[in-house]
Amino acid sequence: MAEAFGQFQYPTPPLNRPGGAQSVLLAEFGREEREHKMRVTLDAYRDYQDGIRPAGPGAKELIDFFDFVDGELGQVGAPNVKRSEQEVMNLLAKRAGALHLGQANHCWFLDPSRALCLKLAGHSARDATAPLIGMCDSARCPQATHHAGHRPVWASAARNKKVFIASIGRAQKTEKTRLAADLARDERVLSEIDAAAGKGA
Ligand code: SF4
Repeated sequence: MAEAFGQFQYPTPPLNRPGGAQSVLLAEFGREEREHKMRVTLDAYRDYQDGIRPAGPGAKELIDFFDFVDGELGQVGAPNVKRSEQEVMNLLAKRAGALHLGQANHCWFLDPSRALCLKLAGHSARDATAPLIGMCDSARCPQATHHAGHRPVWASAARNKKVFIASIGRAQKTEKTRLAADLARDERVLSEIDAAAGKGA
């Protein structure tokens, strides 16, 4: 038996095999995760169509990809005809499969050799099949994008840093300088998200 979502086909193992019930649960979890990634990718594409662009170092690549999707859909039929959700999902499927969801960013893990987290951890990109989300530096990684949904995380981080900086004594100058640099990064990310969403100054 297989279940389909977009272009994906998921084999479902028999329950009477040892570990079969666990395998079914894992398959179900995997299916839900893939569907969630597909929905998130579709949301990003719909935002793009509504003029709400992604921000972050990977934004241009993602916008170029969405431009390509639009072009493909335009070639399939007459312009101004709204394409079916399934056609759109078929074009987005591969990109959605590379998506890893962080709290503060989307990670489009298409090319391990460009993953900043792997470089920072000193890991070889050759055999890597997933990013090291815990080492993510999305403000600098070329595979990261920031979206409006990530704004509260960055805003909260910036607020907390301001409180810390105000409470640090003069003797901790190095720590204060480090926090100030991090705060500047947070505020830059926030202004980029706002500008990409058309809310910039
Ligand atoms: S640094 Fe972040 S965005 Fe870049 S590959 Fe690693 S987890 Fe993904």
